[in-house]
Amino acid sequence: MLPFLRTDLAQTIGYKPNPGHGSCPHDRPLDALDTNESPFDLPAALKQTLATAYQTEIQTNRYPDGSHQLLKTWVQDYVNESRQYGHPALKTNPSPSQGFGVEHLSLGNGSDELIRSLLIATCLPQCGSVLVADPTFSMYGILAESLGIPVVRVGRNPDDFAIDWMMAQEAIDRPPAGFPPVRIVFMVHPNSPTANGLSEAEVRWLESIPEEVLVVIDEAYFEFSQSTLIDQVLERSNWVITRTFSKAFRLAAHRVGYAVGHPELIAVLEKLRLPYNLPTFSQTAAIVALQHRTQILEGVTAIIAERDRLTQVLKAIPALHCYPTVGNFLFVRLRQASPEHYQYVLEQLHDRGTLIRYTGHGLRITIGDEAMNHRTSDRLQAVLKTLPF
Ligand SMILES: *Cc1c(COP(=O)(O)O)cnc(C)c1O
Repeated sequence: MLPFLRTDLAQTIGYKPNPGHGSCPHDRPLDALDTNESPFDLPAALKQTLATAYQTEIQTNRYPDGSHQLLKTWVQDYVNESRQYGHPALKTNPSPSQGFGVEHLSLGNGSDELIRSLLIATCLPQCGSVLVADPTFSMYGILAESLGIPVVRVGRNPDDFAIDWMMAQEAIDRPPAGFPPVRIVFMVHPNSPTANGLSEAEVRWLESIPEEVLVVIDEAYFEFSQSTLIDQVLERSNWVITRTFSKAFRLAAHRVGYAVGHPELIAVLEKLRLPYNLPTFSQTAAIVALQHRTQILEGVTAIIAERDRLTQVLKAIPALHCYPTVGNFLFVRLRQASPEHYQYVLEQLHDRGTLIRYTGHGLRITIGDEAMNHRTSDRLQAVLKTLPF
């Protein structure tokens, strides 16, 4: 290893980014159902609007708006609108006059950038650890380790994937030997890859976490679960919500995410981010998407209907255990399987033109459009018939 490099980086495994969706081995188009993107591109008319903006308004010689002023006002409207969903466990009823302003918002180059800024803001240098409940989104661990931040991992109940909060509480009360105190608890609502939302008991536990620990609720999929803990942010200075335009809004190509939190935390995130973190074209795309959100979010209704249909189909396959889902993806396990079995299924599906993900000792399958989902269930059934057990 080059002598000037941090030695701990020799061990870290980075995120394996998607190679970009090419074709499958037989030159058929590939059903890319491995990264939970929307199967729907932006409507052509909106792409035209964006193309026109690029030609007539955007000056490529100028830096982007580094304050994200206009986009923030649109995000602010959307965040306030999203409060109508709430969470069944929360009976709080903040006065309608109370709401979110731009001082509650920071925009990132995807949620990934926000996660990294949250880590830098709380755990560096060597003053905090983070807690995650596996299986969960891998980026928290990957980004923490890239910054030399220790990760405490607790498990989940094997039946419903509820967090092992006794272990988590223990880690917060008494960090493992040699670990600095836990400064961030990362939760996904609903979780990836297991597709379950936070239950009332889990929310109650999260509420009991002391205010010197930051609770991050990642709501990348809240449009599909139609459940949000956003109101908590108005009442708790140690809660922050992250969201993204990469899923329901169909803008994965543009890398736009946002955090909603206490103004003091937001001010720090704003200091930490790169000054021009969001390219002009991405800001424009997010604004156009928010302006046309009623139309774009119609895709969510279609995906929810397909999700529920595909769940029923996969539940009828004896070799599979298909878990309940409130996301835009399914989590299934083979009834008796080793990692080799999963690898086999993954490869066989890829060979037939369907790309899914093996993670959390199970298969995570993104909901595609109707035709893709039919191919998913057909191909999965065919592959399972050839399984060597
Ligand atoms: C897809 C996803 C995101 C989105 O990340 P971006 O960087 O905004 O694209 C965030 N959190 C979870 C849990 C996800 O699955």
